[in-house]
Amino acid sequence: MTIKTADVIIVGGGVHGASTAYELAKAGVKTALFEQMYLGFGGSGRCAAGLRQHFGTETNLRMAKYNLQVLPTLEEELDTGMKLEFTQWGYMWVAYADSVLAQLQKNVDLQKSLDIPSEMLTPAEIHKRWPYLNLEGIVGAAFCGEDGHINPQTMTLAYGYAARRLGATIKTYTPVAKLLAENGRIKGIVTESGEEWHAPKVLLCAGAWSTPLAKTVGVDLPVYPERHNCLITEPVEVFECPMVLCLDDGAYFKQCPNGTFLLGRDDQDEPHTVEAGNSAKFLEGVTTSVLKRIPALKGVRVVHQWSGAYDNTPDHNAIIDWAPVGGLLLDCGWSGHGFQFGPSGGRVCKELLMGEKPFVDLHRFRLSRFAENDLFFEPAFI
Ligand SMILES: Cc1cc2nc3c(=O)[nH]c(=O)nc-3n(C[C@H](O)[C@H](O)[C@H](O)COP(=O)(O)OP(=O)(O)OC[C@H]3O[C@@H](n4cnc5c(N)ncnc54)[C@H](O)[C@@H]3O)c2cc1C
Repeated sequence: MTIKTADVIIVGGGVHGASTAYELAKAGVKTALFEQMYLGFGGSGRCAAGLRQHFGTETNLRMAKYNLQVLPTLEEELDTGMKLEFTQWGYMWVAYADSVLAQLQKNVDLQKSLDIPSEMLTPAEIHKRWPYLNLEGIVGAAFCGEDGHINPQTMTLAYGYAARRLGATIKTYTPVAKLLAENGRIKGIVTESGEEWHAPKVLLCAGAWSTPLAKTVGVDLPVYPERHNCLITEPVEVFECPMVLCLDDGAYFKQCPNGTFLLGRDDQDEPHTVEAGNSAKFLEGVTTSVLKRIPALKGVRVVHQWSGAYDNTPDHNAIIDWAPVGGLLLDCGWSGHGFQFGPSGGRVCKELLMGEKPFVDLHRFRLSRFAENDLFFEPAFI
């Protein structure tokens, strides 16, 4: 059997794998990406595509700010002919308790210190901008009008297609069975069909599937799957409803550029599995909750419901770090907010893989924080 080689092997064709492949291919690095199904099969293609700069830590904010610098011109840059549907109708975190409002205020203060145009809104100000929202129980909100939406499936595909155009090998429907290591260093991968590829560097970004793959070279990861659901309605008149995140029961909704509404809701009782499935409890819970906040949606039909796995870690923040096996880079565990970090994730992974200094300090994302019990506390996660 012929063993094929690359400078960098990427395991996982979500937005992080695809964007890193693009960045590496642009830099002339011989890259091979392996995806078990199709690009965007995991969290990236199943997410709610919320883009925001509402975080409460400087590390996440610096990366989030970079994402929002790249996204407006990404469709043009990738030049694949695919529509990315980038829109900036804003993202609003709605508080129902004074203590929650106080934390939002702290987050907004930090965001403003980094020149992110966030603002706090009173219920009267919310009513003036979005009169169709029911304000019952609301004590205030944090809002950023630069934030918004991009099509998660086409963005992931476009990164992958652009990488391929620049020379990267993108192998879809090719599950990796295991990573290979020798003398404490990464050596390559073996696919389920027995194909062997060698490279001095491997990037593991297999989302919620990362833990068993890391285990094949003896690396323990605290990444675990947690099922989350979304649904989409039929299209209605476009009134540019921003993403609204209700901080009492975790429900969220937004209008997409084609007029449909996307609804989601956090539910801690969902199973810890990568298996997709439908939950009737979700359908009933999310529609009841969202109709209370936006009664104008009454009677609008649900077209489709789906689920996907959050790639959770114990502190709901990612791991971007070299593993204890030399040459193995980890970029996984983004939990419920990893899609929007595609551009910045791709950039820092490319920088690390090419031996360059990352544009942000990645210390908070290190793997050892879990063993050291020095978790990365981020006050703004869902
Ligand atoms: C319902 C839902 C809503 C969400 N909402 C948002 C949101 O609004 N905003 C946001 O930013 N994030 C959101 N997220 C989180 C986001 O989707 C993820 O954090 C992000 O997509 C992770 O990207 P990734 O590229 O690291 O992983 P993934 O997109 O999960 O990609 C990993 C890939 O690895 C592949 N893979 C797995 N095992 C193998 C193998 N053995 N061989 C080869 N390939 C393999 C998988 O098939 C998958 O395609 C949401 C997630 C869900 C489920």
